[in-house]
Amino acid sequence: MSGELHQMGVAALASALRERKLSAVEAAQHHLARIRQHQDLGSFVALDEDAALARARDADALLAAGNAPALAGVPIAHKDIFATTDFPTTAGSRILAGYRSPFDATVVRKLAEAGAVTLGKLSCDEFAMGSANENVAVPAVGFDHAVPVRNPWDTTRIPGGSSGGSAAAVAARLVPAATGTDTGGSIRQPASFCGVTGIKPTYGRASRYGMVAFASSLDQAGPLARSAEDCALLLSAMCGPDPERDSTSLDKPAEDFSRSLGASLEGLRIGVPKEFLGDGVAPGVRAAIEAALAEYEKLGARRVEVSLPLTELSIPVYYVLAAAEASSNLSRFDGVKFGHRASNYRDLADMYAKTREEGFGDEVKRRIMIGTYVLSHGYYDAYYLQAQKVRRMIADDFQQAFAHCDLIAGPAAPTVAWKLGEHGGDPVADYLADIFTLPGSLAGLPGMSLPVGFDGGMPVGLQLIGNYFGEAKLLNAAHRFQQATDWHQRTPEGY
Ligand code: GLN
Repeated sequence: MSGELHQMGVAALASALRERKLSAVEAAQHHLARIRQHQDLGSFVALDEDAALARARDADALLAAGNAPALAGVPIAHKDIFATTDFPTTAGSRILAGYRSPFDATVVRKLAEAGAVTLGKLSCDEFAMGSANENVAVPAVGFDHAVPVRNPWDTTRIPGGSSGGSAAAVAARLVPAATGTDTGGSIRQPASFCGVTGIKPTYGRASRYGMVAFASSLDQAGPLARSAEDCALLLSAMCGPDPERDSTSLDKPAEDFSRSLGASLEGLRIGVPKEFLGDGVAPGVRAAIEAALAEYEKLGARRVEVSLPLTELSIPVYYVLAAAEASSNLSRFDGVKFGHRASNYRDLADMYAKTREEGFGDEVKRRIMIGTYVLSHGYYDAYYLQAQKVRRMIADDFQQAFAHCDLIAGPAAPTVAWKLGEHGGDPVADYLADIFTLPGSLAGLPGMSLPVGFDGGMPVGLQLIGNYFGEAKLLNAAHRFQQATDWHQRTPEGY
């Protein structure tokens, strides 16, 4: 069956493994060969066949004993922002070159405990700062230099970011599922651009321990896979309290999200914020979203109009707050404790300065400068504090909207994936593309993207936003849509 192995999703692979129709070692070898075959996508930054095969043999032993956990033998890969003992951890940055973590991130550990076999690490924007996976400073597997990740639907286009390696690898069937992180949209937007399904849970549901910190009040881990059913399997393994290691992890027990799949959508109220379908949305994207909403009505859902009046303000608010938190989080990279250190310096201050000058890329430096500025004496009230207040108002607007609906729907992004280099290094052009994912992030709400059509041959993702702890409802709504349609099964040509 190895010919179609990579066409199987997580659920199908897990049951084939359990029924001993294939071994975990075979599954790992098949996917490792595919990763090598398609390494020109630039989606992987680390592979370790020996480590992966050793874990696969462990999974086979559990499977043979008949008491294997849910994901035993299922190959996955992690965004290179999760600390891993089996692979280097770079967060896409030169400053972490050569860094090997002495511990696994909680999410990595939990997925390993569920039996998943990690094949390698996936490219991402440096410190998860970006919307295109063009801000990468470490070499991809098969390259001796850093490359942007390519979108398998059109390799002249970006895959989205910052979890672009994860989305591209899943879309190209290099792995059935991958982890990502979402601070302002980095799971939902690349899922949308690559035609895969991805979910970011409620802030605090998945532990941030071992996730290289970008903006701690926003960062959340989540899975990317081909279907909501597969995402449910991974998310069930990833979530759960971690009180000793992440003080913001919520005291909410792990949940089996797969069990809630299948409920009828009869009477479900889907709120469509009028700000999400305005002039800035590409006509082809709007058409695909409208068609998806019509499909939901056929499935029994009711469409209601809601409003999120501060949607536009989410961009400045996010880029003030995320930069402020980043400037603080990234102060730990000083050449002493981790990774790169400048080789020529006069004294301690010069060592810090040169290490950071050499180690950080342009976008990271830009955010550190903005963050330092908005936190500085005299500007704190005008920018940081003001942004915090608007953040609260954005969260309140969602609660007003949820008084009239069960889920919120709209595009994950205003356009499909753009061409590599198209934004010409203009960071603001990238920032503006985050407009529909940022509001939910600022409110800490769960959100997902699922493929619902194409615009000019490129995938379009529908974003669904739930109220706090609404993951099961979101996954069920996506699953019912995927039972009725086949957008999520479309594969880019050549993969
Ligand atoms: N594109 C956004 C940024 O650059 C979001 C990134 C993310 O979610 N990690 O900050």
